[in-house]
Amino acid sequence: MNVSDSEVVARLLSDSGYRQCERLEDARIIFVNTCSVRENAEKRVMGRLDLFARMKKKDPGLKVGVLGCMATRLKEKLLAHPAVDWVVGPDSYRNLPGMLGSAVAAPLEVNLSLTETYADIKPFRGEHHGISAFVTIMRGCNNMCAYCIVPYVRGRERSRDPFSIEEEVKDLFAEGFREVTLLGQNVNSYCWKPDNHTNQGAFASDRGDRPDSLTPEDGQAPVTFAQLLERVAAISPLLRVRYTTSHPKDMQDDVLYAMAAHPNICKHIHLPVQSGSNNMLKKMNRGYTREEYLDRIAAIRRILPGCTISSDMISGFCSETEEDHAQTLSLMEEVRFDQAFMFHYSQRPNTLAARHYPDDVSEDVKIRRLNEIIALQNRLSLESNRADVGKVFEVLVEGVSKRSEEFFFGRTGTNKVCVFPKMDSRVGDYVKVHVNSCTAATLKGEIVTETL
Ligand code: SF4
Repeated sequence: MNVSDSEVVARLLSDSGYRQCERLEDARIIFVNTCSVRENAEKRVMGRLDLFARMKKKDPGLKVGVLGCMATRLKEKLLAHPAVDWVVGPDSYRNLPGMLGSAVAAPLEVNLSLTETYADIKPFRGEHHGISAFVTIMRGCNNMCAYCIVPYVRGRERSRDPFSIEEEVKDLFAEGFREVTLLGQNVNSYCWKPDNHTNQGAFASDRGDRPDSLTPEDGQAPVTFAQLLERVAAISPLLRVRYTTSHPKDMQDDVLYAMAAHPNICKHIHLPVQSGSNNMLKKMNRGYTREEYLDRIAAIRRILPGCTISSDMISGFCSETEEDHAQTLSLMEEVRFDQAFMFHYSQRPNTLAARHYPDDVSEDVKIRRLNEIIALQNRLSLESNRADVGKVFEVLVEGVSKRSEEFFFGRTGTNKVCVFPKMDSRVGDYVKVHVNSCTAATLKGEIVTETL
C-alpha cells in the first residue's frame, strides 16, 4: 500500500515541477513514507530521521517530510524531531505541493477523509518500471481487529470508482505492464455505489470518457469486488491480475467463481487466519471461527482446484495458551498453506487490545511459538514446492535472478517464484517452465516452450 501511495505522491509532486532523484545525496527534499503496523517498522523510521537530522546539520537547506501512518499516529511528536519539516497523513497528499511552496502553510496535515481515494491521480511509477504494478482500489478499513492500528491511522473504508481503476489498468497495459495487483485492506468488501460517492476525482455521471464496457445502466448499480475483478481481467488475456488482501469473513463464492472464469486471474489467494484458536479469534475480533475459516478453504479447494493459499499468523497474542498455540499449528497442518507471513504479537498503542487486554505472553514464549510456526511452515512450503517438481507452469518473466546474470526469475500463476536459464526469453514474456527441483522458497527449472 505504501509503494502505491508513494507513487501517488510522486505524481502530485512531479506535476508541480519537482523531480525525483536517484541518489539520497542529490535530494533537496526527502519524504519518508511510513508504516505503523509493527513496532520494528517505526523504529527503523526513527533511525532514518536521526540520520537525516545529522545530514541537515551539514546542509541546513535540506527539508524532510514524514508521510503515511506514523504521521497520523504521532502528529506533533514527529514535528518536534529535529529532522522534520512536514508531517502529512495518508489522506492529505493533495495538500503537499501547496505546503512545499508556501512559507505560511501549516507543517502538519493529518486529517482523515471519508471520501479521498486519489481516483484521478495517475501514480508515477518512474521511467525504469518493471512489468508489475500495484493498483489501489480502496482505502482504509472498517474492521476493528483488536491488534491492528490500520483503522486508526488510515481511516474508514472507501471504494475507488471502477471507471478510474479500469482506465488506469488499460494505461498500464498499453505502457507494457503485464501484471497488476489490486490493493485494499479488505478487498472482499469493495463496493462502489455511484450515489454515495462525492470524492474528488470519483465518477461523475456526465463523464465523457466512460469505458465502452460499462453501460450507463452499469453506472447506476453498485459494483462488487467480483465484478471489478472480472472487468479488470477482461482488459486483456495477456494481463495477469492478482489481488490482496482478502478477509475470511467477507470472502464470498462469487469472487472464487470470477477467478475460475478467467485464466488470467492468478490462482493464489492470501487469506490471513492469524490464529487457529476460536478463543484467540474472538479476542482478536476477527469475525469468524476456525470452522468458518475452514469452510472458506473448502470452497477454494472445490471451486479452484490447484489454487495456492497463503496466510498470516500471529504468535503470542494476549493470554494465548499452549492449547491455543497448538490449535494454530493444527490448523496449519490441516490447510497446508503454501506460504505464510508470520509474526509475534507486538502491542500497538490505542488499539482495542492495548486498551483492554494485558500483553501477558512473555517475549521468550512468543518467540518460541513463532519459531515453531515458522519451522512448520517451512516444511509445508517445501512439501508444496516438491509437489510441483516435474510439472510445467506458465511463468511471467519478471527480471534477472539475484544469484546469476544467466538466469531469469518470474512467478507462476500460483505465486511461486521460479528461477530458470534465460534462453531467448525477455522480461515481460510468458514462458513455460518445467520444474526440475526446488527449495522451500523457490522452484528451479528450464524453459520448455515459449508461449503467447
Ligand atoms: S481487516 Fe483487521 S487486520 Fe486487516 S487492516 Fe482491517 S483491522 Fe487491520
